[in-house]
Amino acid sequence: MPRVHLVNPSTKSFGVAVITPRWLYVLAAATGTRWGDPRIVDETLEPLDVDTIASGDVVGIGIHTGNARRGYEIGREARQRGAWVVFGGIHATLFPNEAAAHGMAHAVVRGDGDLVWAGVVEDCLAGTPRAVYEGGRVAGDEFVSARWDLLPSGRYMWASVQTVRGCPKHCSFCSVWRTDGQEPRQRGVERVVREIVELRRMGFRFIALADDNFYPVALGDLAQAKRRADGSRLRELEALRAERFELMTRLAELPDDLVFYTQITMEAAEDPTFLDAMRRAKIRGALVGVESVTAEGLKDVYKGFNLAGEELVARLRAFRRHGIHVLGSFIFGLPSDTRESFDATVALAHRAELTFAQFVLLTPFPGTVDFEKWAVEEKRRGTLVDGVPLTQHWLIPESRRPRLYSAHPTMSLEEIRLGTERAWDRFYSWQHIWARSRVVESIRARVAFVLISKLYRQMYANTGIAADSARVQRSTRRARWIGYACRRLFLGKPMPDLRIPCEPQRQYEG
Ligand code: SF4
Repeated sequence: MPRVHLVNPSTKSFGVAVITPRWLYVLAAATGTRWGDPRIVDETLEPLDVDTIASGDVVGIGIHTGNARRGYEIGREARQRGAWVVFGGIHATLFPNEAAAHGMAHAVVRGDGDLVWAGVVEDCLAGTPRAVYEGGRVAGDEFVSARWDLLPSGRYMWASVQTVRGCPKHCSFCSVWRTDGQEPRQRGVERVVREIVELRRMGFRFIALADDNFYPVALGDLAQAKRRADGSRLRELEALRAERFELMTRLAELPDDLVFYTQITMEAAEDPTFLDAMRRAKIRGALVGVESVTAEGLKDVYKGFNLAGEELVARLRAFRRHGIHVLGSFIFGLPSDTRESFDATVALAHRAELTFAQFVLLTPFPGTVDFEKWAVEEKRRGTLVDGVPLTQHWLIPESRRPRLYSAHPTMSLEEIRLGTERAWDRFYSWQHIWARSRVVESIRARVAFVLISKLYRQMYANTGIAADSARVQRSTRRARWIGYACRRLFLGKPMPDLRIPCEPQRQYEG
């Protein structure tokens, strides 16, 4: 019988990974069982063994811009072996023709795969796939729950559950609001809780709420709807907000050893009621897109709703006062950046008491406003790398791909790259990590904190920013070692008898 394979492409395999790639397990559930259980391949763990693909199988490959090139390689190999090749994910949604040309796709799924995927598999196995399937934006109550029973044991430290898709903001470097839409689609509370209970039963204590923006209704949005006397919009926003609180109330009833982590906008710091509810719900950490520490930098990325300077420090500290640890995300390479920006940003990150930080290089990702502006200019220049236009930078071999794409008004690109590396080195020095590890109490937790900080540094910064391949390989080896050393620290004792709070037994077993 032909098999369905679901592949998460990656050029680097670490043997273990921090967070489960949720989409693989959601599509596994969407596949159904008519063709047996799908075979899941996450290349961040191990590279795909192409010999497992047989003629007539269906190979679903999910790509974002960063792994599109590796995804296309897999598509070509799978097609050569006579399999049906289907691409999905943000990048394939944006460039269905590219997936056909470079990845030899028989079919491309655009948008959410939750509802259309089973039909795509059926069409492939009947020998009649369509070139493009429009998955659209599935409503929150139709999001498919993941098949966690297919997870390999002991490979992932964090599970992932989604509670909302879409983000009402419109940051210029981000494609989420355009692909997932600006209208938040919140998932039913019961389904979220049920999935979390299933994961805790299996032994997962750390769960990422893999949302675009966990705080989709800010106090400012409510005030604006009131000012405009827009009654129906106000009721809509209030209902969305009430649902968030309902979810957090249910999370608060779950076992105390659970730790959730999510992504939110900085405006949440002005909303103590929300932060208190997060704390009670065991949401102990959040990625906050700070982007820049200056007002000019925020203007560069259309993020006027953030604050700069000392007001920014105060706002970020507000999270900590409410028991929420912040992973601050900063962008370097903005036109307003100067040589002082790197050290000033790290100093601010320390003053703001950030628990983790990431420093990313400004990159024009397709689907964003920044990309469109940059691509118009770049097309005029017509730069080629190994014969590939720079406007398709994701098709350039990784070792030859530039780390920055636009000339900077005051710094050379190498200065920006080195400044960014220095920021990572300073923030993640042993001394600073050890000092920050005081935020947790037990020695076991401190060790886990130190290891996860170093792992993050190795997995992300060295492999994403370093220019020489020897350093990248060294980092990959170190990340593999640290990953193996710390994975068990994140898992808890399974709780197979854990009940869903407030629900009678017969419902949660169903
Ligand atoms: S960066 Fe964050 S806040 Fe901005 S549009 Fe993207 S998801 Fe929304």
